[in-house]
Amino acid sequence: MLRNDQLAEWDRDNFFHPSTHLAQFARGELTHRVIKTGTNCHIEDRDGNKMLDAFAGLYCVNVGYGRQDIADAIAAQAKELAYYHAYVGHGTEASITLSKMILDRAPANMSKVYFGQSGSDANETNVKLIWYYNNILGRPEKKKIISRWRGYHGSGLVTGSLTGLELFHKKFDLPLAQVVHTEAPYYFRRADLDQSEEQFTAHCVAELEALIEREGADTIAAFIGEPVLGTGGIVPPPVGYWTAIQKVLKKHDILLVVDEVVTGFGRLGTMFGSEHYGLEADLITIAKGLTSAYAPLSGSIVGEKMWKVLEQGTDENGPIGHGWTYSAHPIGAAAGVANLKLLDELDLIANNRDVGSYLNKTMTEALGDHANVGEVRGEGMLCAVEFVKDRDSRSFFDAADKVGPQIAAALGADAVIARAMPQGDILGFAPPFCLTRAEADEVVQKTAKAVKTVLG
Ligand code: PLP
Repeated sequence: MLRNDQLAEWDRDNFFHPSTHLAQFARGELTHRVIKTGTNCHIEDRDGNKMLDAFAGLYCVNVGYGRQDIADAIAAQAKELAYYHAYVGHGTEASITLSKMILDRAPANMSKVYFGQSGSDANETNVKLIWYYNNILGRPEKKKIISRWRGYHGSGLVTGSLTGLELFHKKFDLPLAQVVHTEAPYYFRRADLDQSEEQFTAHCVAELEALIEREGADTIAAFIGEPVLGTGGIVPPPVGYWTAIQKVLKKHDILLVVDEVVTGFGRLGTMFGSEHYGLEADLITIAKGLTSAYAPLSGSIVGEKMWKVLEQGTDENGPIGHGWTYSAHPIGAAAGVANLKLLDELDLIANNRDVGSYLNKTMTEALGDHANVGEVRGEGMLCAVEFVKDRDSRSFFDAADKVGPQIAAALGADAVIARAMPQGDILGFAPPFCLTRAEADEVVQKTAKAVKTVLG
């Protein structure tokens, strides 16, 4: 095994880490770990330090680490056939089986799945398919996509534009002109302290209507949203939000893209977040939970209405000019099949419902009354604690104080990993679905301790 100092030197000299403060990394100021192995909810670094990963990597290792069945399926596929492409109608048993398994689990109006590698490229595919669709229908002006501030949809040019977080735009010349943003459905951060949740929902709807009016409905193709805002702060929508938003979209013939990269395959306690909130999507984005991150694989699930037009479009225009070398990669597909089987066999979504609500309840009991905790919120196996300087005026700490990152670091030092969400002092939890109640207790107790250490 390589010595740690050798590895650290190679790391510093060669590795461009994503989403990283490069200068701090170069100066050795970041707490980072070289991870070696993992089992269920725990990971272990090269020095044998074991940590409870309460964020499941990047909320993706949903079935937990070290699953033999998935590793075996990957190995068997690699031996039998590591690769063949999916162009011009080709496939493998794994990719065809997985497409059926996905459609069997997806909402009823969904028709086909287009495979990619990451959530970003799946959303890129969605935008291209939407543009293609409107061109086929003879409405070339109807192209803009509405996204929400605080939404997260990826890091590409279009998807980084859809993402409504400043960090992902700043100095990258984003967002692109085809993307427009509307109000984040974030009740806790509403502008008016006296506004009820229902009034805030009405405000979000009015903002959307005003945006459509300003831009012109004939220029707007689609609206994209996560059922629960994820990276933007783990924020379930205010009451009645999705029902009201969908009404507006239908009225203006605007397609709905439901980004289920985080929520797909059980994170909210239902197979899809669409079920949870009664969403009728035209396109659904899937990634993370599709393989529980055992291999990179994503998908755009295309609804019946769009599919018919796309199919007809190829008779008029020839084969669809959109493909990735690794679309439906056999190893990814084999991982997906084994992962979805395991999800069923171990009844992990049921455990998720039980332990997820227990985690949210106990976190609220432990921290809900703390003077610097503004809100404990969550849904399914998602939980967030948002910190405030003052509860009554709902004023926030200065970002430079790094309250969220400090608490995450204190918790990390106590062998529990949570995520300091990128905008605001928010500690996010999204453990693997196999979390036990005892592990949930450990997460809550250590979080309360870390909060006490940093904020008193
Ligand atoms: N959409 C959502 C909702 C996400 O949370 C993410 C990643 O966290 C993405 C898209 C982008 O996925 P990827 O990082 O695989 O490109």
